[in-house]
Amino acid sequence: MRVLTDPALRVAALADHLAVAGDGLRAALRDPAGIIPAIEAAGLRGLGGAGFPAHRKWAAVAAEPGPGKWIIANGNEDEPGTFKDRFLLAETPHQVIEGALVAAVAVRASRVALYVNPREAAGVRALREAAAAWEAHPLLAAVSAVVGEAVELRVVESSGLYIGGEETAAVASVQGGFPFPALKPPFPAQHGVGGAPTLVNNVETLAQAGHILAKGAAWYRGLGIGDAAGVKLFSLSGDVLRPGLHELPMGTSLRALVFEHGGGMLGGRGFKAVFTGGPSNTLLTAADLDVAMDFDSLRARGSRLGTGAMIVVSDGTSILRKTAEYVAFFAASSCGQCPPCKVGTFQVARLLERLEAGAGRPGDLEALRNLAALLPGSGRCGLVDGAATVLASSLATFPEEYARALR
Ligand code: NAD
Repeated sequence: MRVLTDPALRVAALADHLAVAGDGLRAALRDPAGIIPAIEAAGLRGLGGAGFPAHRKWAAVAAEPGPGKWIIANGNEDEPGTFKDRFLLAETPHQVIEGALVAAVAVRASRVALYVNPREAAGVRALREAAAAWEAHPLLAAVSAVVGEAVELRVVESSGLYIGGEETAAVASVQGGFPFPALKPPFPAQHGVGGAPTLVNNVETLAQAGHILAKGAAWYRGLGIGDAAGVKLFSLSGDVLRPGLHELPMGTSLRALVFEHGGGMLGGRGFKAVFTGGPSNTLLTAADLDVAMDFDSLRARGSRLGTGAMIVVSDGTSILRKTAEYVAFFAASSCGQCPPCKVGTFQVARLLERLEAGAGRPGDLEALRNLAALLPGSGRCGLVDGAATVLASSLATFPEEYARALR
């Protein structure tokens, strides 16, 4: 079942989009009060990675007074192994904008920032053209009439930094500042752009909204497997035969993703592990192949679905090397506001690099274990937690690789 990746939605012209879609926004305009209950009944969760119930965030923004509320459609995706939002932005910009407008009607927001990483030049271009077409279309005027203010669509290019995707950093970027994450609460829902209530949602979350309103909450919920609701874009990469973007029912097993949809392991190699999330969560191993890939099942397993990125590693590939690579990415991406994050991720990256190069020293493993225990919770955003989690997990799951490197 293709919902977000339906080829009919991969169109540049708004008229072509509205020929096959648009019913979601029309339904939202007919019954604005019914939108948030529908999102709740559908079981839509935040697909940027946290899985926070979308209706709760939407209701929080709706409860705040206007005018001048904001929506940020967050498309700053920059995590290793995650490549879903760039598809949605470049190939289906109208689907994203329709979803953002459904949200605007639901929460009565008049300013919609389409927030995108400038490195995704095709996405920026597609969004600009799409936004201009919506600006000239009577449907936008109908949205403005329901919101009670003139609704504006703005394409906002981010700084291009990874940290700019964190929601408070996105708020700071839209305000024109450096993307420094801020402590929460207050949440953007209460205090966002310029102090105005702001709904920050990942573009995949928003893209689902039009379909839910068009075809109904029960239909959407039923697309998932078991208790999981809806569909998810999985970014599959690494040692599989068919890497790429796979749209699958939420709750699909890891085994089905890797061995059915992904075509199995490259070159007949053995399956070793998966970095999930982006690579900021507890690793999955062969013992987890039958786990359902949804927020609750993976959390119950001690890991997380995150963005739905699954980086598959085969036998013969060093987990230490991959961990070193990802921690180095996080270290380079720290904004520097919180010393434990800046210094801690740098220290971990340095130790891993040394071990990987065969130059480890006695005490390095203990230092890594200490840092993995000390660092979580020491930053104002989740960056350092992600680096510490993947480190702790790889140390605990593949201790022999670390011991071997030290020898
Ligand atoms: P979070 O758990 O702090 O918050 C989740 C969302 O819920 C936020 O929007 C927050 O404002 C909202 N929220 C929570 N309580 C609320 C309340 N009481 N009222 C209103 N809103 C409330 O998580 P986060 O830091 O926003 O996101 C973490 C996730 O981001 C990670 O799981 C990671 O997978 C993901 N991530 C994604 C990328 C990417 O490129 N897409 C990059 C890095 C991290």
